[in-house]
Amino acid sequence: MEKPLACWKGSDYYRGDVLPSLTVILKTGGCRHNRCRMCSYRFERYMEPTSDRLASLLLSQLDWISTRYPLDEIRMVKIYTSGSFFDPDEVPPGVVDAAARLFRGKLVIAETRPEFVDAGRLGEFRAGIDTGEWETPLTVAMGLETTSDFIREKCIDKGFSWQDFLSAVRKARSAGAGVKAYLLHKPLFLTEHEALLDMEESIRTVSGVADMISMNPCTVQRRTELEYYWKKGAYRPPYLWSVLSLLISAPVFVSCDPLGGGRSRGPHNCGECDHDIVRAIRDFSLSNDRGLLVDVFEKGCRCRDEWESVLSREMPYCMPLTR
Ligand code: SF4
Ligand SMILES: [Zn+2]
Repeated sequence: MEKPLACWKGSDYYRGDVLPSLTVILKTGGCRHNRCRMCSYRFERYMEPTSDRLASLLLSQLDWISTRYPLDEIRMVKIYTSGSFFDPDEVPPGVVDAAARLFRGKLVIAETRPEFVDAGRLGEFRAGIDTGEWETPLTVAMGLETTSDFIREKCIDKGFSWQDFLSAVRKARSAGAGVKAYLLHKPLFLTEHEALLDMEESIRTVSGVADMISMNPCTVQRRTELEYYWKKGAYRPPYLWSVLSLLISAPVFVSCDPLGGGRSRGPHNCGECDHDIVRAIRDFSLSNDRGLLVDVFEKGCRCRDEWESVLSREMPYCMPLTR
């Protein structure tokens, strides 16, 4: 039997409740875009199988999930691939139908790039999972990363625009689906302060458009362009102080799971205060209790001065425009 890339039980905050959730990362035909500067998920793919073979490999992963997890106890399912769940070349349509049958009755969040948001396809999936229990049983999650087209293009190479995102939101809504936006805090080439301003602006702008927002502080994944610069000392993941200040000042609830928090490849401070801050951020994401964040921010640490000095003194560096 094929195994997904990862699958785990957890909890998620949803409209004032904490729901038992299942996170599933399916191995698929892989991301069609395949070139974001910080991404190594795109290497996780089956190499050139036929559509039938791909479908049977994916159906086998769904069987594996159904035999190993008590789906009766799960209320929310988050489906990720190393790309787009609604790209028919990456996940054959028969597999999407089978996933709808398996997760019927759950609140489903499925990730995709905006170009694969198709009202017909989403509407069918939504009808397949809907038992009437949830007002919005399907939410489409998109890795918008930032609302700045310039930063999304130059620092990430994401390959779509804010207008493309808005058009996908309209199509998702017409299919009765909700929208979740993922934002990336501190992509390549930005100073700590530029990254902070970019996230403040992005959260403010997208809060009127998406129903849920999740902010990912950038981590350095292996075999990526970001790792190349990080190894040269030309990139530092964001300070946890920046993450805290963004979550505290956000005009709406923004969830955050600081993967790799406290490690050199993930968002980090000095090493002494990291653990408590990461825990506060995780607890906040399950409770929407900002007091938890304010407590660790006000407790401070000797490295908070360092962060403030980096914010005010770090300069962007430029390459020459001509040779
Ligand atoms: S971040 Fe998403 S869209 Fe970009 S290469 Fe990775 S999987 Fe593809
Ligand atoms: Zn510290």
